[in-house]
Amino acid sequence: MTQPEYKVLIGMEIHVQLATASKMFTGAANGFSEEPNTQVDGVVLGLPGVLPVINRRAVEMAIMVGSALGCEIAPETKWDRKSYYYPDLPKNYQISQYDKPLCGAGTVELPLPDGSMKTIRIRRAHLEEDAGKLLHEAGQSASLVDLNRAGTPLLEIVTEPDFSTPEEARLFGEELRQVCRYLGVSQGIMQQGHMRFEPNINLHIFEDGRTYKTAITEVKNLNSFRSVERACHYEIQRQLAEFLSDRSSALQAGKSTRGWDDDKGCTTLQRSKEEAHDYRYFPDPDLVPLRVGADWVKRLQAQIPELPIARFKRYEQMELSRKEAMALLDDKAVSDLFDSAVAIKPLPKRIANLMLGPAAKAANALAAERGVPVLISDLPVRADQYAKLATMMEDGTVSASAAVTIFEALCGGVENDPMAAAEKLGLLQIRDTGATQGWIDAALANNPQAIADYKNNPKKKQASLGFLRGAVMKLSQGKADPKLVGELLEKALEKLA
Ligand code: MN
Repeated sequence: MTQPEYKVLIGMEIHVQLATASKMFTGAANGFSEEPNTQVDGVVLGLPGVLPVINRRAVEMAIMVGSALGCEIAPETKWDRKSYYYPDLPKNYQISQYDKPLCGAGTVELPLPDGSMKTIRIRRAHLEEDAGKLLHEAGQSASLVDLNRAGTPLLEIVTEPDFSTPEEARLFGEELRQVCRYLGVSQGIMQQGHMRFEPNINLHIFEDGRTYKTAITEVKNLNSFRSVERACHYEIQRQLAEFLSDRSSALQAGKSTRGWDDDKGCTTLQRSKEEAHDYRYFPDPDLVPLRVGADWVKRLQAQIPELPIARFKRYEQMELSRKEAMALLDDKAVSDLFDSAVAIKPLPKRIANLMLGPAAKAANALAAERGVPVLISDLPVRADQYAKLATMMEDGTVSASAAVTIFEALCGGVENDPMAAAEKLGLLQIRDTGATQGWIDAALANNPQAIADYKNNPKKKQASLGFLRGAVMKLSQGKADPKLVGELLEKALEKLA
C-alpha cells in the first residue's frame, strides 16, 4: 500500500524547575537531592492552619524567561487550585495558574540545520508548584513517598503546534535549555530532571482530496532531548499505522496521554485525556492576585544578557559554521571567553579553531581524569593568550601544529606568553628565503621521480607537488613557513620545466 501524504504537528509543554533558594509558596529549602522528607515544612506537607506566600524570586525568574521568549507579561495574574488525588500531593491540589498566566503569547526564533530560521509561537508560560516523588523499590511491598521536590517552583511553557519534525522539537528543547542557563534560572541538568518535556503530536493526512486529522497524543515526562525526538518519531509512525489499519476508530479517538518506555523505544497508553473541568480549577482563596508593575518588569528585562540566538547570528556573521557557533555558545562562560578574545584580536575563525580544537580536547581530558564536567573556560588559558596565539598563526610566526603544542604549554602552566613558549620550544617558523631555498633544493635533488611526474603526468601533478612540499617541511623539521615553501617550490619547478 502506498503511504498517503501527511503533515506532522508537534507542540510542546515544558516544565522548568526554577533554581530558587526556597520553594514556590514557602520558605522551605528548594533542594531535593537531600535525605528524603527533609526539605519540607507545614505548607509543603499541607498541614492545617498554614498559608502559602508567593516566592518573589520565582516570579522574577519567570518574568525573565517569559521576556526572553518574547511573551507579553501580564500586568495582573492570579493563582488557581488544580484538584486531584495522588499520594505525592499532600494538599490534594496543585497551585497553578489557569486562566491568567503570568506570561502570555510570544515568539522565539529557532535556527534549523539547513541554515533557515523558523519562528515558534509560545502560547503561554505560567508558574506552579511541583509534586513529590514516589519511590517504588524492587522487592518492597509498599511504595515510599519523598516530598522534598513538593512545592518546587515550576515554570510551565506551552508552545503552539509549530514543530513539523521531531528534530525541530528537540532543537527547541535545546535552545530553551540554553536560554534558561544564560538567564541563570536553571542549571539545565537533564539527568536531575531540571527540565521535563511533554510533546503533543498529531497528523494531518491527505487522502482522496480530503484532510484527516488524527487524535492528539501527549507523551508525558520526557527528560532527555534524545527521548523527545525518539518519542515523536514513534508516535508519528504509530498514528499513521493506526490510521491506515482502522480509519474510523483512529479518527474518532479523543486526546490521550501516553508514557515513553526508553528501553523498548515505544509509547504506551496511560489514560484518555481528562478535560480541564475534571480538575475543578478555582482561584486559590489563600493567595491574593499578583500585580506586576511595568517598572519591575523593565528592571528585570534590563538584567537579561545577550541571548544565545543573538550570539548565534553574530557568530554566523563572523563566518563561523553553524556547528562552531553552536558549540561556542552552548555555555555562556565559553561564549564570553570567545567574545573577549575576539575583542582583543578580530580573528574569530582562528580563535574558534583553538577553542574547539586543542582547548576542547584538553577540557575533555581533564573531565575524564577528574570525573566532573570541565569547560573550555575552566582551563587556565586567558582571552589575551588566545588572541596572541591566533595572531601568531595568522602572520605565519608559528604553524597550526606548533600552535597546538604551544597551547598545551600554556594549558599546563609551563608558559604564560605564547611567543616565549614558541621560542623556548623552538617552534618559530623559519621564513628565511635562503634557508627555505636550501631545503627545497635538497628535496628536489632527492626526488627526481616526483619532479618527472609533476612535469609529465598531469594526473599526478598535484599529488607530486604535495609530496615535494611535505619533503621540504620534513627537512625543515616542520619549521618552514608552508606559504613561503609553496611559493618558492612552484618557482623552482617552473625553472626545471
Ligand atoms: Mn504543569
